[in-house]
Amino acid sequence: MKKSTLATFVCGLLLVSSHVFAQFNKNQVIAHRGAWDDTIPQNSLASLNKAIELNCFGSEFDVHLTKDDVLVVCHDHDFYGIEIEESTYEELLKKQHPNGEKIPTAKEYILEGLKQKGKNKTKLIYELKTSKVSKERTLLAAELSVKLVKELKAEKMIEYIVFSYDAGKKLMQLDPKAKVSYLNGDLTPEQAKKEGFFGLDYNHNVYKKNPTWIQQAHELGLAVNVWTVNSAEDMQLFLNQNVEYITTDQPGRLFDLIGK
Ligand code: MG
Repeated sequence: MKKSTLATFVCGLLLVSSHVFAQFNKNQVIAHRGAWDDTIPQNSLASLNKAIELNCFGSEFDVHLTKDDVLVVCHDHDFYGIEIEESTYEELLKKQHPNGEKIPTAKEYILEGLKQKGKNKTKLIYELKTSKVSKERTLLAAELSVKLVKELKAEKMIEYIVFSYDAGKKLMQLDPKAKVSYLNGDLTPEQAKKEGFFGLDYNHNVYKKNPTWIQQAHELGLAVNVWTVNSAEDMQLFLNQNVEYITTDQPGRLFDLIGK
């Protein structure tokens, strides 16, 4: 092979690999609803950018579906008093976050995450919320989420988390490579593995009540995430058990502990 041909080949390979193998910050920290504080609202683009600035492994965010089928980012079922599922996207624009941001669409949030230029990135931890209206609406939200992520070519940037077993199965069916973790705490590690979940993402009390589950999950090859851990004592408890991820409102505190 000529030198120039070889050089072209190697360059091509590097380009492909940098695209395919996106790398993420190597730590256990997932910022719960982004990295927010008194001036940065939860689930805002600013909270995502703060999580990126802190080099968190992930920034968690919550996604609901509006009445006119727009995926939007917000924790509660209402955005400052406007019921999301009973409103159009346009109607939600009547309210703003205190920092002046409007409610982000899931598309805007993902696009913001995709702007990251550094070698190690912050992953987007996409919580698909369960509809209060119907199971059909939850499943439609799952379908639209996978469609959106594919359209934005953001598959590598996203991990999904769900309380709804049905939504989890739907996400995995539509994108068999998707990493989907289960939040609801009512599947044993064996059951979660059998159902095809990538990991467990349970409330800290669930692991405390079932002290063998973390080790069992690891033996089965499941990733373990725990929420929402804010005290240094609990953070240390789970770090000692080698969980993959800790979802916290206090990413700075967790970084301090990890750094010790
Ligand atoms: Mg959430």
